[in-house]
Amino acid sequence: MKKLLMLTVAVLFGFTLMLGAAPGDVQAKTTFVTIGTGGITGVYYPTGGAIAKMVNAKRKEYGIRATVESTGGSVFNINAIMSGDLEFGVAQSDRQYQAVEGIADWKDKGPQKDLRAVFSIHAETVDLIASVDSGIKSIQDLKGKRVNVGNVGSGYRQNAIDALEANGLNFESDFHAESLKAAEAPGLIQDGRIDAAFYTVGHPSGYYKEATAGKTKVRFISIPNADKLVAKFPYYASAKTLMSNYPGAANEEEAVETFGVKATFVTSAKVPDDVVYAIVKEVFENFDKFVKLHPAYKGLTKEDMLKGLSAPIHPGAMKYYKEVGLK
Ligand code: GLU
Repeated sequence: MKKLLMLTVAVLFGFTLMLGAAPGDVQAKTTFVTIGTGGITGVYYPTGGAIAKMVNAKRKEYGIRATVESTGGSVFNINAIMSGDLEFGVAQSDRQYQAVEGIADWKDKGPQKDLRAVFSIHAETVDLIASVDSGIKSIQDLKGKRVNVGNVGSGYRQNAIDALEANGLNFESDFHAESLKAAEAPGLIQDGRIDAAFYTVGHPSGYYKEATAGKTKVRFISIPNADKLVAKFPYYASAKTLMSNYPGAANEEEAVETFGVKATFVTSAKVPDDVVYAIVKEVFENFDKFVKLHPAYKGLTKEDMLKGLSAPIHPGAMKYYKEVGLK
């Protein structure tokens, strides 16, 4: 009996030694990180999935396990990162700028000093769609209609407000504004329960496929006076939404004029350098594989991924960019 006990102790001791003696092969500890995204028919959700896939492939090497969460969007993600509820998130470049400056949704809270940029990803356009039945042909026709301007916590709500303001419209007085999450809007347009909806997303997206592929005909409505917004705000750029992405849309023109931003990947200064380094390294070293994970990344270059960032770059990311000469 005594012998057996001794043996058990010896085996256990040996096993512990073995674990300790094999660094790199077996990670004793796993670091769990969560990436905040957006609605499941947007592009942030698959983007979070693409980033997680890259780093999880090397789980044994890094000991990092990344998971993805569907959320209310950019503003929610930044706030959840700042409160420590999420480690990473996708956020519009305009929202990143506003959080750093302490303006718009951060006017009361002040500058988000711990917000850090990791890289930027695909371009997003601010779009307005309306059912053909609603009779809406221009942004002015929104008057008196039921229009989704977006949930509080989304990135696109402020884009909708800016687009309306540039055209002399007010969402609180000119129409019945809904504050729905993006994922709900296409179905409600199809059912005739809302007439129009704004959204800011990369293309192609499941959202617009769903909105334009049903029985109810839906068209994209151009947003005039985008040049005014581009002149006023440093984070907006003129843009076009290509109808080739959505063959079911009722538009006859090939492109619809609007303005846009970039989707960016952000984190907190409190997230350890080695975790951020590992994620950046895996995305950049497997860049060709990464860009194939979503059609919205078409044409993306490594250099592009360092543009449109207003928060300081996280030191873990910077370490990698310096190593490969990108910075
Ligand atoms: N840009 C949107 C937002 O922050 C989300 C788009 C997406 O999920 O792809 O509200």
